Amino acid sequence: MRKLWTAGLALALVAGVGWFAATDDLEALGDPDRSASAEPPLEMGQAEVDITPPVPGPRPVYLAGFGHNRRAQGINDPLFARCIALRCGGVKIALVSVDLIGWFYENTLRVREQLKDFTYVLISTTHNHEGPDTMGLWGESPLRSGVDPAYVAQVEERIVHSVRAAEKQLRPASARIGRVQAPELLHDSRLPYLVHDELVVLRFHHPLTDEPMGLVVQWNCHPETLSSKNVQVSADFVGYAVAALRRHAGVPVTYFTGTVGGLMTSLRVKITDEQGRAWDDGTVEKTRLYGERLAAAAERALSRAEPLALTPLVIQARQVYLPMANPLYHLARRLGVLQRDIYLWQGDPWQAARASETTPEKDRAIVTEIAVLTLGELQIVCVPGEIYPELVLDRSPVPLDPGADFPDAAVETPLYRMLKKKHKMILGLANDEIGYIIPKRQWDVKAPFAYDRKSKQYGEENSIGPETAPLLARAFEALLRTEAGK
Ligand SMILES: [Zn+2]
Repeated sequence: MRKLWTAGLALALVAGVGWFAATDDLEALGDPDRSASAEPPLEMGQAEVDITPPVPGPRPVYLAGFGHNRRAQGINDPLFARCIALRCGGVKIALVSVDLIGWFYENTLRVREQLKDFTYVLISTTHNHEGPDTMGLWGESPLRSGVDPAYVAQVEERIVHSVRAAEKQLRPASARIGRVQAPELLHDSRLPYLVHDELVVLRFHHPLTDEPMGLVVQWNCHPETLSSKNVQVSADFVGYAVAALRRHAGVPVTYFTGTVGGLMTSLRVKITDEQGRAWDDGTVEKTRLYGERLAAAAERALSRAEPLALTPLVIQARQVYLPMANPLYHLARRLGVLQRDIYLWQGDPWQAARASETTPEKDRAIVTEIAVLTLGELQIVCVPGEIYPELVLDRSPVPLDPGADFPDAAVETPLYRMLKKKHKMILGLANDEIGYIIPKRQWDVKAPFAYDRKSKQYGEENSIGPETAPLLARAFEALLRTEAGK
C-alpha cells in the first residue's frame, strides 16, 4: 500500500508546478531495501515515432550545431523519438531519446502535462548536430531564431505518442547489462585529455524463454560526423548504429547520449573501411561506418553481459535554479533568439522567485531539473546538459593548471563516486540543455590561459557560467543523501 501511495504522491508532485517546494527534500518512490522477491515483476515496452521535418516544407529547416543559416536541402535519414517504458507495481516511467540538438525544460514540462499517469517522464536528446534547430541559436543570423515553433509543437505531440506506444508494448521482462571500452571511437577536442569511453548496453528478454525483447545503448559522443557543411537532415551516426543493431538483433533499440562535454566528438576519429580506405569527416560513408563500429562495440558488450535486477524503480528528481552568467545568452534572450523563463538568483539553488524583464541580467537564473533513477542494481544519473567527464568519472582529479581562472576552486565530487549501486549509467541533456557543465577549476576565459595556450579553448561560450558545475555537484549530493539514494 505504501508503494501505491508514494507513487500517487510523486505523480502529483512531478506533474504540478512548484512540486519541489512542497518538501524540503525530494520525491522518492519505492524502497530499495525491500527484498527483491517481494517486488512485482518488471514490465518493459519500447517504441519509436518519426519526427523528421518535411524538406522542402512550409518553412525552412535550419540545421543546428555549427554555424548560422545552414538550411536543409533534403533528408539523408529519418529522425526519431524513441521511448522505453518500464513498469513495476504502481510505478511507471518513460525514458525518451530524441534525435535533436537539445530540448528545453519548458518543453519537457509541457509534454509531462499530457502524461500525468506516469510517475516520471524523462526526455533526453542525442545532441544531434545534423537536425533542426530546436533551441534558437542557429537561425538565418545571430539575430534570428532558427526554431520553427510549429515543428517543436509537433515533436512534443510525437514524444507523447512514442510514450503511449511504448506503454502499449509493456510485457514482463528480465534484463542483462554489458559494458565495453571504446576509446577508438572518441576524439577529445579540449585539454585536458580525458574521455568517458565506456559504452553501456541493456538487453531485455522474456523472463522464461530468454527471447530478446529490446536494447538500450548509452554512449558518450557528439553526433556530428556529417559536420558543418552537410545540408541533409540526418540523425548522424546514431541512426546508423540503431539501424545496424536492429538488423542484427531484430528488436527495438533506444539510444541515449551520456557525457559529451570536454569535448567528446566523432570528428577526427579515424575510420577506415574494409578495404583500408580512411573516410573524411562530413561523408555519409564515415558516418555509416562509425555507426556500424558503435553497433559492433555494443555487440561486444552484450557478449559479456551479466544478469541485472532492475526493480524496484526508485525516482529522485528535483528542480534546481542556476545563475545565468553568460552575456551571450543574455544577449540572445534580449533578441528573442533564446527563449527561457527567468528567475531571481539569490544564492539558493532550491528556490527562486520569478524575475521580470526589469531584473538586472546579473541577478537572473534559470530553472532546470536533476534526477537519479535507482532501478534495482542500476543507478542512472540524469544531467540537464553537456557535462565534462571529469565531473562524472570516479578518478583522481586532473591536476590544476595555473593558467585557469579559478586556481582556488575546489574539485567537484564526480557523479559516479556518489552512486552506490553496482551498475552506473548517465543520461546527458536530460529534460533540458543548459550547455556545457565545466569543472570550475578548468574555467578559462582570461589570459594567461591554461596549457600555455595563446587563446582560450572552446566551451565557456556555451555554458551558463562557472558556478554551474559546483552547484550541480552539490545538488546531486543533497539529492542522494536522502533515504532512497543510499
Ligand atoms: Zn555540444
